[in-house]
Amino acid sequence: MVDEKLCQKCKGKGIVREDDCSVHTCWDCLKKGKLDQHSKEVKDSKIKI
Ligand SMILES: [Zn+2]
Repeated sequence: MVDEKLCQKCKGKGIVREDDCSVHTCWDCLKKGKLDQHSKEVKDSKIKI
């Protein structure tokens, strides 16, 4: 069973970690507007929005 509400790319965290260790906002969640509440909390300069 897969929880459809939980993004499989970022596991619901809103942040995707690539194989090369780069980190970025989950585009899927961004499109869906899930990151509204998270975006304000993202202050890490390593995270590209
Ligand atoms: Zn996501």
